[in-house]
Amino acid sequence: MLAKQYWRITQNSNSLLARTFKAKYFPRGSVQECKTKPHHSWIWKNIIKSDNPKLREGIWWVGRGFDIPLNHQHWFAQQHIQLNHPNLVTGTVGDLIDHSSHSWKCDLVRSLYTLAQASKILQISLSRTDAVQDKLCWKYSNEGHYEVKSAYQILVKDNSVTQGPTLQQKGAWNQIWSVKVPLKLNIFVWKLMRDRLQTMLSLFNRGISSLNLCPLCNEESESTTHLFLLCPFTRACWHGSGLAIHSYDFNSITVQQWLTSLLLKHKKKEVHSMEYLQAVFTYLWSIWTYRNRVVHEGIVPNPMEVILTAKLYLAGARCNRTKRYSFAYEAINMQGVSVFFGVACSIARSKGGAMFEAMVEATIRAKQHGFQYVLFLGDDRRVVQAFRKKRSTDWLDKTRLADLNALAQSGFFL
Ligand SMILES: [Zn+2]
Repeated sequence: MLAKQYWRITQNSNSLLARTFKAKYFPRGSVQECKTKPHHSWIWKNIIKSDNPKLREGIWWVGRGFDIPLNHQHWFAQQHIQLNHPNLVTGTVGDLIDHSSHSWKCDLVRSLYTLAQASKILQISLSRTDAVQDKLCWKYSNEGHYEVKSAYQILVKDNSVTQGPTLQQKGAWNQIWSVKVPLKLNIFVWKLMRDRLQTMLSLFNRGISSLNLCPLCNEESESTTHLFLLCPFTRACWHGSGLAIHSYDFNSITVQQWLTSLLLKHKKKEVHSMEYLQAVFTYLWSIWTYRNRVVHEGIVPNPMEVILTAKLYLAGARCNRTKRYSFAYEAINMQGVSVFFGVACSIARSKGGAMFEAMVEATIRAKQHGFQYVLFLGDDRRVVQAFRKKRSTDWLDKTRLADLNALAQSGFFL
């Protein structure tokens, strides 16, 4: 889009935008001749910088020719053009045109330019009515105006930009949000996948920072791939994480490619996969926050601190995630008199599990009180079914069911 501004300034030199920039950055000469200087603004540097030279490649639409300097960069480059040639009065293309017949001065053109260049110049048709004004146009459009759509096609063809995300990338991006971590971690990983983190290299490329060195090792430039995979500091963190992430897996891939394959490989429905991704996300986040502390607080990098922070964070997250259940029961005899009761915190991971635990404890106490028959009154249908079928999905619950079974077989009637 900034190339569009370049052409606006080039073609509408009287516009406010063009006059403002001219006064500030190129008071003498043209925008094409302007060279960037360190004090120039980021916007201006990007307007005149050639990310792909084709976006700023111009072609002159020739009118009378007096507005086209012969040494203009978009006119036929001829290094040794003899501007002191006796037939060149104004030093512009106008000198090459016979204005009475509206034709090229063939002999003069041939004497100044190479054969190929002269041939191209002589093929340029000239206006016979002076209806055309000299105008610098964008070479890659029929109309002469810069078109974002055509520019995009050129960039795609020249591989300067990628063709949008692939289906695989989209799948991985969606997967990011299904990993159960605090939302700020999902957002952080999403930014990393889109390569939007403000590393030293990205700040340097945008002209905001004069340094691009990694703050953790001070050896290489800090790209996201270096920071999260290749930096010796990070390698030490991954090594200590116990996540079986080996640095030899990182040969010639970017951190984005690595994360994409991880996200696609680990299915969100599998508990272990989810825990693995949670751990990877937590480590990435810990590395990033620690790196920020190194940059802003000047602390000395120590991988152990990242490992401990991540482990603490993960341990805390696991405790928080588990819902705690507690149970209470009351035993009443046939006469309706309360015999005993109990309250306790359960280690079960589900409500049903907590009920089984209560049943086991109540039965054991009933046995101690000398009872032989116990009738349970409960309101959870799933628990009743699981009890009847002696089947449960959770291992802890299976243990309780086995306990109840054993009690029943030892002559206790439930
Ligand atoms: Zn480094």
